[in-house]
Amino acid sequence: MSLLSLTNVATRYGASQALFDVSLTVNAGEVVALMGRNGMGKTTTIKTICKMLPVLSGTVHFAGQDLSNEPSHRVARLGMGLVPEGRRCFPNLSVHENLVAAARPGQWSINAVHQLFPKLEERAGQSASLLSGGEQQMLAIGRALMTNPRLLILDEATEGLAPLVRQEIWTAIAQLKRETGLAILVVDKSLKELSQVADRAVMLERGCTVWAGKTDQLDDDVITQYLGV
Ligand code: ATP
Repeated sequence: MSLLSLTNVATRYGASQALFDVSLTVNAGEVVALMGRNGMGKTTTIKTICKMLPVLSGTVHFAGQDLSNEPSHRVARLGMGLVPEGRRCFPNLSVHENLVAAARPGQWSINAVHQLFPKLEERAGQSASLLSGGEQQMLAIGRALMTNPRLLILDEATEGLAPLVRQEIWTAIAQLKRETGLAILVVDKSLKELSQVADRAVMLERGCTVWAGKTDQLDDDVITQYLGV
């Protein structure tokens, strides 16, 4: 059984429907890329998975549970670690405090996060507001890992970061996959890096799943048709 499974999911922002028919699965130990052009519904899908938006129709199952009636704080406790678009670290807390604030028991500890991102150890006592964009993204990932999730969800994993820092984030994601077997659902615009790290991809268009397959099946036709590149 899949760790995460969306079947024919629809949702809306108030009166405006944004998802119509999204289906996807993420299995344990798998990295899945959620793709599509701007405005096609990637962030909305993530918000629906995390129950920040209601499931209008269809179903969302996570770890064997139907999430339809679960509030978002319960969903987080079931083992979903979200790295949201825009990072959203607590700016008035130190790097260390940001990590500790999220902690739940499990294999991920401050030491393990410092090993993955040594820069966070160097900056431990600093206010999160003083971090560079790349360091903030490392902190956001570290904070999500401190919840000891079964599934890590990254929305725009490397958006707005300098090329070298982006590479550091991709290296960390590959390391997580290789060494911990954590299930990961990731959105990003860097097709090359995404295809290298992800096992499978799901393509959205206007709030519907229009393609799903292994990343090595992402040929030029699929890429041109659904990503317009
Ligand atoms: P991007 O790559 O630009 O982040 P996306 O694929 O993540 O795009 P979404 O942000 O999920 O796309 O947007 C899907 C649709 O929902 C779009 O038509 C968008 O205009 C609409 N939408 C997004 N946020 C809201 C909101 N807060 N209120 C109303 N409509 C919204």
